[in-house]
Amino acid sequence: MRSPLAQLPAIHRLLAHPRLVTARARHGAGQVLAAARQAVAAARQQLASGAPAPSHDDLVEQALAALELRARSAYPSVLNATGVLIHTNLGRAPRPAVETGRYLALEIDLPGGGRGERLGPIVDRLTRYFGCEAATVVTNNAAALVLLLAARAAGRQVVVSRGELVEIGGSFRLPDIMAAAGASLVEVGCTNRTRTTDYARAVGPETAALLVVHRSNFHMDGFVSSPGLDELVALARERGVEVWVDQGSGCHLDLGVYGLRREPTVREILATGAEIVLFSGDKLLGGPQAGILVGSATAIEPLRRHPLRRALRPDKSVLVALAATLDAHLAERHDDVPLYYLLAVPEADLRRRARRLATRLRRAGVTASIVATRSVVGGGTTPDQTLPSWGLALEGGQGLARRLRDQDVPVVGRVEDGRVILDLRAVFQDEDALLLAAVAAAVAGEP
Ligand SMILES: *Cc1c(COP(=O)(O)O)cnc(C)c1O
Repeated sequence: MRSPLAQLPAIHRLLAHPRLVTARARHGAGQVLAAARQAVAAARQQLASGAPAPSHDDLVEQALAALELRARSAYPSVLNATGVLIHTNLGRAPRPAVETGRYLALEIDLPGGGRGERLGPIVDRLTRYFGCEAATVVTNNAAALVLLLAARAAGRQVVVSRGELVEIGGSFRLPDIMAAAGASLVEVGCTNRTRTTDYARAVGPETAALLVVHRSNFHMDGFVSSPGLDELVALARERGVEVWVDQGSGCHLDLGVYGLRREPTVREILATGAEIVLFSGDKLLGGPQAGILVGSATAIEPLRRHPLRRALRPDKSVLVALAATLDAHLAERHDDVPLYYLLAVPEADLRRRARRLATRLRRAGVTASIVATRSVVGGGTTPDQTLPSWGLALEGGQGLARRLRDQDVPVVGRVEDGRVILDLRAVFQDEDALLLAAVAAAVAGEP
């Protein structure tokens, strides 16, 4: 008997199929070859387990489907229906929409034609917005801390409260970062209570600074206390050391405007006399991923000259987006920054949109109801606080949630009590039509 494997076509014959020949122009000959081989290998396995041999056309279809799957956008735009505005898995703050040219006047002095200062425009905006003498920017806040410690505290001691030895987002652990930057950590106080006298006892000739770290992603309650920043600054001044604050979130305006508990802003922290404040660009600033350091000229200057700064410098598209974000905040057009646009949407608008979407879905035969929800800012900011919101509740659990994520424009929602909840707080109004189409398709069992 003829071996069933002999029923499979040779790779070169499969590749000669007109549709696979055409596919070469789009995907490249190497990728088409790999997809054809993969289809034949899969068929061989099926045959071995007793399944019938696929037709030549089936194999071509499989190869084409695999090619299409691989050619999908690596980072597709998604609709964020999770109700988490700064969503770590969706790129934190929504991206500012900025156009960048092919070439940019990045490091050129246009009037003179000579070499310009790459970070000049950003530093100008940062110093104006935060009312400080000096500033610089690197790839993210973790890098900002590494640069700060390497440039200012290598081989010296940095004093940190035991209540602030935090881990943020899995891989950012303060003690590890300190060690990597060559600074030695001096822990003071207890998890729940640290006093100014604890810091005072720890400061010695080897001390470079007192580092205060914002408890970004947790909240301590009960028998807790830590000294006010002004007390620490007074102590530091007396002993000739500096106070640095890893503020993390980049809170820069009164969050009370958005119905959230207000927290100290970067400006307020600088006003206490802290020499350096560092924070992320893509949390409450609402900009691109970046690590921003602001403070006094003497404190920041050594960072500008340190060789690590060149290794940690942000991409030009980041600088363009960051400048645009700062321009909007400087002009008090906060709502032009996508994160603040979302924060400012009145609850009544969300409810109206939820109603309209539910009505249209019901007309299309989809069971959908509206639900009042609570959204969170997220991203390790404003822990334990929520914002009012509205959403859609759809019949269907993880299966429907997965089909929603499988759409051409993926929709990411959450599953609660066997229903899919699509929270509208982080869905832009001009995305409603896309949301509607994706829900209708996903409920109908497509793709
Ligand atoms: C978020 C955060 C970081 C890490 O910032 P990245 O920009 O992700 O590197 C560090 N410290 C604090 C206090 C934070 O909140």
